[in-house]
Amino acid sequence: MFRTKNCGELRLNHKGEEVTLAGWVQRVRNIGHLVFIDLRDRYGITQLSFDQNSNKELCESATKLGREYVIQVKGNVRERSAKNANIPTGEIEIDVHNFVILNESETPPFTIENNTDGSEELRLKYRYLDIRRPHLKDTLITRAKMIKAMREYLDEQGFIEIETPNLIKSTPEGARDFLVPSRLQHGSFYALPQSPQILKQLLMVAGMDRYYQVVKCYRDEDFRGDRQPEFTQLDCEMSFVEQEDIFQNFEGMTKHVFKQAKGIELADFPRITFADAMKYYGSDKPDLRFDCKIVELNAVLPKTDFAVFNNAIENGGLVAGINAKKCANYTRKQLDEITEFVKATHRGLGGIVNIRFAEDGTVKSSIDKFFNEEQLREIGQQFNAEKGDLILIAADKISKVRKSLGDLRLDLAKKENWFDKDAWSVLWVIDFPLFEKDEETGDIIFVHHPFCSPHPEDLQYFDSDPTRVRAQTYDLVMNGNEILSGSIRIHQKDLQDRVFAKLGLTPEEVDAKFGFMLNAFRYGAPPHGGCAFGLDRWVMLMTGGETIRDAMAFPKASSGKDLMMDAPAVVDVKQLVELGIKTI
Ligand code: ASP
Repeated sequence: MFRTKNCGELRLNHKGEEVTLAGWVQRVRNIGHLVFIDLRDRYGITQLSFDQNSNKELCESATKLGREYVIQVKGNVRERSAKNANIPTGEIEIDVHNFVILNESETPPFTIENNTDGSEELRLKYRYLDIRRPHLKDTLITRAKMIKAMREYLDEQGFIEIETPNLIKSTPEGARDFLVPSRLQHGSFYALPQSPQILKQLLMVAGMDRYYQVVKCYRDEDFRGDRQPEFTQLDCEMSFVEQEDIFQNFEGMTKHVFKQAKGIELADFPRITFADAMKYYGSDKPDLRFDCKIVELNAVLPKTDFAVFNNAIENGGLVAGINAKKCANYTRKQLDEITEFVKATHRGLGGIVNIRFAEDGTVKSSIDKFFNEEQLREIGQQFNAEKGDLILIAADKISKVRKSLGDLRLDLAKKENWFDKDAWSVLWVIDFPLFEKDEETGDIIFVHHPFCSPHPEDLQYFDSDPTRVRAQTYDLVMNGNEILSGSIRIHQKDLQDRVFAKLGLTPEEVDAKFGFMLNAFRYGAPPHGGCAFGLDRWVMLMTGGETIRDAMAFPKASSGKDLMMDAPAVVDVKQLVELGIKTI
């Protein structure tokens, strides 16, 4: 046998056993007449021990082993004299009789340890070395455990995994498609699926009832934020369901995954409407690990000459604020930083008002000229302000105020440690609007995708006030990250036609893009609904990563490049000719 044990499994009860191990040389230590080597494989690290006094030659060749050499060793398990409580194999070592070098290694470009000296770029280039580091290796193991737990649960609930093709026609998730040119039909292109949305709906028409798939999705988006051009979803669809069935099922699955992969028991998930999430937290993915709700003041502000507040209210805007607990002693500099934060272009406020309820009982504010102490205390009461609290108030267009205060709430929570890092906030956000207005063009666009079913009681506003129509759409939010989106779908052709028309698609365009789907709806489409989890983000959260790159084996760099394979790359002219493509 190549090896009889792995590097993570030997304990004191194996004392005396002769074993064969194989792995990578993590480090070689030379202490007097002794040489110690840490041998690493996926399962752990085992200490190898060589003694000059018992075998000089072997010991000398051991000192010549370089980092990341691959070796096979034979020896006996013995109790260590100096134990290491930090690793599971820390009570034993191998008294080596002989070893074989299976492969040499060049000195790796960075240290293979959690606290490595390699930049992310370098680590992406040598990802196979990066994956040898314990953190990334453990992340991939947790990822596999999570997927296994998902499959277990879904299988138990009667779901079946069905694969769908990658070379298809454009799917409507609102992003740009990746296109694949057809060699046999020049000028025609396949699109890679932005998600299997349409196909899973067709599987419901086909009567498969409960579908899931761990599936790659492709979206050619700009590399703003934490995005990857290809990412993995756990994609699901169910027939003959209402929203409640979906909540029960996927809340159950999420709890099961936490339990199996991390041993964590989650409490029942609260539900909050999109409207309330925006109103109280300024975000459709609120982090509820801490409170700090936004308080709206339009109706309760004392009458003064302060134009900033008055103008905002007169123009249909919002005056609202948050209570930064225990921040009244912020310095001028810290207050200026807050002002800069809300002024950043993507937030766009002109500034922010502060009221400081000092520990000594006095009240000071940046609007002392307009508000007397009694009025400031009145405002403070809206926030239940206590000694030591800092009230921050914004006044502008509703969306700007909410966005700024929502972002500020998160920023302060991080800086001030308002929440326990190990806490979990998992909640449903429900009742998203069906449509919204494109800020630039003013056009009506869909919020999730065009197949989401409106709430029947809101259909009355469909023509008169479309943005008021709520959809049967929901998200699952985990520690302030959206990890699932889904909806009850439209299953009637007429309603689907009305939605397409509202989105400005002509019957010809609808026919060209979605004719095959609408045709299917003529043949008895069952009521159905579903959702998709963003697997990478969920893994990232469960493994303490900072970006979804940290949760993937071979991610692209933030520029969209695969630094290891050097892709995308220029191709042979011959290939282009075959495809009928001319580059410009
Ligand atoms: N296809 C949707 C998405 O990718 C998920 C769903 O509605 O099931 O966001």
